[in-house]
Parts: sequence; structure tokens; C-alpha cells
Amino acid sequence: MSNHAIDPKLEARMQELVQELFTYNYQYYTLDNPIISDKEYDALYDELVALEQETGFILPNSPTQRVGGELLSGFTPHRHLSRLWSLDKAQDTEDLLQWHQRVVKLVQDYNTKNPDQTPLPDPSFAVELKFDGLTLNLTYTDGVLVQAATRGNGVTGEAILPQVKTIRSVPLTIPYKEGTIEVQGEGMMNLSILEAYNQTAADPLKNARNAAAGALRNLNPQVTASRKLNAFFYNVGYASDIRFENHQEMIQFLKDNHFKVSPHVTYFNTIEEVMAELNRIQEQRNTFDFLIDGAVVKLIDMRTREVLGYTDKFPRWAVAFKFEAEETTTVLESVSWEVGRTGKITPVARVEAVELAGVTVQNCTLNNIGDIERKNLKHALGSRVFIRRSNDVIPEILGKVTDEQDGEEIIYPTHCPSCGSELEMRGAHLFCNNRLGCKPQIVARLAHFASRDAMDIETFSVMTAEQLYDELEVRDPADLFALTFDQLVGLNRFGEKKANNLLKAMEEAKSRELASFLFALGIPNTGKTTTRALADHYKSLEAVMTAAPEELIQLQDVGGIVAESISGYFADPLNRSSIERMLELGVSPQGPAEPAAVNTDSIFYGKTVVLTGSLQLLTRDEATSKLEACGAKVTGSVSKKTDLVVAGEKAGSKLAKAEQLGIQVITDENEFVRLLNESLNA
Ligand SMILES: [Zn+2]
Repeated sequence: MSNHAIDPKLEARMQELVQELFTYNYQYYTLDNPIISDKEYDALYDELVALEQETGFILPNSPTQRVGGELLSGFTPHRHLSRLWSLDKAQDTEDLLQWHQRVVKLVQDYNTKNPDQTPLPDPSFAVELKFDGLTLNLTYTDGVLVQAATRGNGVTGEAILPQVKTIRSVPLTIPYKEGTIEVQGEGMMNLSILEAYNQTAADPLKNARNAAAGALRNLNPQVTASRKLNAFFYNVGYASDIRFENHQEMIQFLKDNHFKVSPHVTYFNTIEEVMAELNRIQEQRNTFDFLIDGAVVKLIDMRTREVLGYTDKFPRWAVAFKFEAEETTTVLESVSWEVGRTGKITPVARVEAVELAGVTVQNCTLNNIGDIERKNLKHALGSRVFIRRSNDVIPEILGKVTDEQDGEEIIYPTHCPSCGSELEMRGAHLFCNNRLGCKPQIVARLAHFASRDAMDIETFSVMTAEQLYDELEVRDPADLFALTFDQLVGLNRFGEKKANNLLKAMEEAKSRELASFLFALGIPNTGKTTTRALADHYKSLEAVMTAAPEELIQLQDVGGIVAESISGYFADPLNRSSIERMLELGVSPQGPAEPAAVNTDSIFYGKTVVLTGSLQLLTRDEATSKLEACGAKVTGSVSKKTDLVVAGEKAGSKLAKAEQLGIQVITDENEFVRLLNESLNA
């Protein structure tokens, strides 16, 4: 602050700007509800900075003070005004039920022993997410944020005020100005922010929790600010002059004072409902934009909390329900290279066996060479690494635990581990270009061709593909349709029955839908949705094969790369001759069926129809699809737009409404069915 007098007009404008910026900031970061653009915000912010420079005066709650410019020399200890307790843990529902029994008994005992007191209410519960970040304790005196600290040992933490100020959802001032309060919450890095950060970061971050903890304990607040942390607040740990009746009141106090409160706080009267909620959270866990490692169950009533009190470690009125870890660390032992259907070479990591989410993990994916480089794993053999369970079956390696380049080097192959051909680097991936002579590629292509969503050749497995490759020199899907009974029956583990079954399954596969056939071909970058769209649009194989890329790109969901892949695939003489051979051998992909011509003379044609009551001769679905086949639109409720109501037995309010509106009604079901058949068979 400056000593010389300030132009009162300028000061008033600065007050106004600080207030406006606070409001926009609060809407954006605390309520997730931005009300102006970043550009407009920046313009106001720049105006404030200019005024502060011009006047040499800075208001104490100015948002320009969020990010300090000075490097800090260390952390000073902060003694919390009231202890930050850790929580008793429940590993499973049995633990949770035992905690519940203890609570019920303590409440009953108290009520029995204190007949002259107002009895404690039956226990009811708040369920909150247990965030996996860094616990924060904020101190406000007379409405101003004066300190922020880590949890430390629960009694004393480290002061990190300059770092915490950079979190935009942390209020620098609050409306409550009566003395000192401390509130607790969790600092975290949102997963979407972590992902965006890693896209451009020279040093990618491996894990959101470590990223948040590292940022908050970084001596340079600029680094903290660059991580764009978030924080949710859930507890008022100390307040000299306020008492809350229950958890809801405390949460409301936090909201009223502009703290960001998690929207996932729910309240229940029974432990059964709590358990259902815990299951629900566990199922949704991967949809949150932040890490959680469980949920916290707390008693709602504050007087009960006081009566139950604390053990020497935990409050008796709360318990943390832990979910299975989704991340852990282990040692990267070796990397092998596998050849896929398209010739892509994928590194597969072998790790020291470790338990993760209930299964023993030994293999992890590394995606490609670009991924190894990006995650700084080039020199990581023998090092400890983070692994994370993903939606796929095989967990992913996230990065090394330490940054030291102390591991053995992962050597990239120059030649195909299977066929020995020289490899080619395309983008981030290595490829083996020996499509016609590299066994794992061919076996994977055959297995894909026969798989359920493709040609659906029953009983055909990867093992079948390998056997046909080894013993009958099958090299291409077209070869499958040239196989004879005599060839198959002579194979190991094949008898007459199995040979006949396979021939029959392949005969059936010849007339699969066009969409399935196109998917079976395994065109690069082209999945089921795209092949379905191609079949629906072009209707014949010939038309798909001759479509130009600039034509393909007109289709929904087909981008430039996909269009090039498709036309490139059909331009390749090897692919063309394979398809021609299949057609010669009787393969005949079926285009989508043309919808039957609609009888425009039908009394249902173009009508909006409502079905009500119960029908005896048809199900509701059958009646609906028949009406639609007649060109009618079937809707659920009767309105002025309804043309016709079909009323079965026990038709209620819809029939009454139809009569009231003077809408035509069919009440005779036999007559209705006769009219349907007449329309459909005309
Ligand atoms: Zn190869």
C-alpha cells in the first residue's frame, strides 16, 4: 500500500472492479457457471492491474494478489485451532455394519442413562465423496483469509497460504466476520485439467493426487498457479461463535460464505440406504472429473456427534468407506513387442506381480513408442512405476515414481519380432509391412474376420486360425471359403462332425449383412458404426468400393482420415483380388432391406394414434409396429393433435379425454385387427 493520497474516483473504480471480478470468479470457479467470457474477464482484470500500478495502491482482497511473484524460502509450521482428525476406515460392508451397530448402541446407552435429557434422535447419515487430494485447513479472521495449511500430523501442518491463494475457488474474503474460523477441504487437480496440462507440458504429470500435492508444496506459487487446482470444502473445524444443529446447516454456512461445496452430498435415514448410495458412487467413480478413493459416512446430528465424541484417533460419529485402489506402483521388469492385425507393433510391459482392484497384474500396456517417450520411460527397466486400472482389461503404466534416469534402457526393435522384416515408423507407431508373410498379422486378421460382430463364423477361434495357417496354408480370408471337407477332416483335433460344423458355419456366413462384411474386412480406422453407415448409405458392396474420398466424407462420422483409409483400402490390388475371390466362392453380402411400400389408402396412414387400455389379440409393441408399418405415428398421450384412439379393455382417462375432445375412437379390438390386416395386405 502507498502513503500518498489516492484519487477517490480511481479508488471507487478499483472497489467496483474487485467486486465485479469476485462475482465472475465465484460464478466460474465455485459454481461452475461462467457468466462472462474469458476475454471480458481479462479486460476488467487488466484495467485493475493498470489502476493498481498507476496509484501504487492495492485493495487487500484484490484478485491480482492471488499469485505471488516471490520464491518462498521454506514452510513455517501452523498449529490448527482444532485438531484435524483422521477417520476410522471400513474396508467392506461388514466393517460398515459394525460401525453402525456401535453407533446405535452408543445412542441407546446415552438415552437410557439420561432419561431426564431430550433423547438423541435415531441416527441419520450424510454421505460425501472422499477426495483423493491434499487436505487443506483455511483460517479466516474477521472475514479475511489469513492462513492456509496442510493437514500435517493433524495438530500442526505446514503453512501454504501463497500457494492456496492461487486456487481460484478459494474465497479471499468471506461475509462472516465474527472472529476466527477454520474450514477444511481438499485441494485437487481435476482430471480434465491434468490431461490438458500434459498435452503441452515439458514434464508431464503422472497422477492427479501427486500433481496437486506437489503443486501445493511447491515453493514457487507461479508453479502452483499453473496447475489450476480446484478445492471442495466440507467441514467447519473451528468457530468461536457459531453452533450448528446438523450437517445441513454447516454445509449451508459454507455455501453462504462462498466456499465451493461438492454437489455429491446426500442424506439418509437408514444404513441400507447408505450402502446403496455407496454402491452407486462406486459405479459412478470413473465418471467424476477428479480422483476419489472412497466415501465418508457421518452422523448428521451435531449433538449426537458431541455425545459420541472421539477415540484417541478417530471421531466415533464418522467412518471412511474405502474403495479398492485403482492405482498402485510396481517394478517394470521387461518389455516385449507384439504384432497386431494391421501390422502395428505394440509394446507389452511385464511388471512384478501386484494386486490392483482385486486382480493380480503382471502385464501392462504401453501403447506405442511415442507413449514411452512421452511418459519418460525410455530408461525405466527395473524402476518403480505407477500403474492404473483402466476400462480395458489390461492396466496402463502412467510413469516412473522418481525422475532419476537410473533404469535400464528399453531398446526399440528395428525388425519384426515375428517375421524379421524391417520395421517402419509411422506416427508414434512401428509397423511390420510384411502383410502376406507375417503370421501373427494373418492369424489376427482371420480371427477378426470370423468374429461375432464380423462374419460370425461359429466355433472359429484364434486357435482355429492358427491351425489353418500352419496346416492348410490359409493366408487370406478368401482361402477359408475354398476349404473342403477332405482337408478339414484330416486336421488334428478335427473329426467329421467338427469339419461339417465349420463348413456349415462358413456357408451361413456367406450371406451376412453388408455392414458385417465391411467390418470383417478390417479396414484401418473403420469401426462398426462406420461400416453400418457405409452399408446403409451405399446399399451394395460395389457402390462402397467405388466411392471417392470426397464423397465418403459427406457421411456422418466419416472424417478425412477415415475416408482416405476406406478408399485406400479398396484401391489396393491385393484387397480387391481377395474380395473378388470371395465373391467367386459364393460370398454375397446383403444390402439393407428396402422398407416395404406403405399403403397410402390405409385409414391409419399419416394419422397420430394413441393406444390405451389392454389389448387381447396383440401386444402393445406388436400393435405399435403394425401401425407404424401402415404409416401411422404412435404417441403416448391424447391431445388435440391426436387423430385416433384405440381403446382396449379398462381404458381410463385417455379414452375419456378422447371423447371429450371429439376424437375418433376404436373400441372393438377385432375391428382394429381387421383394419390393420386389410391395410398391410392390400
Ligand atoms: Zn512381421
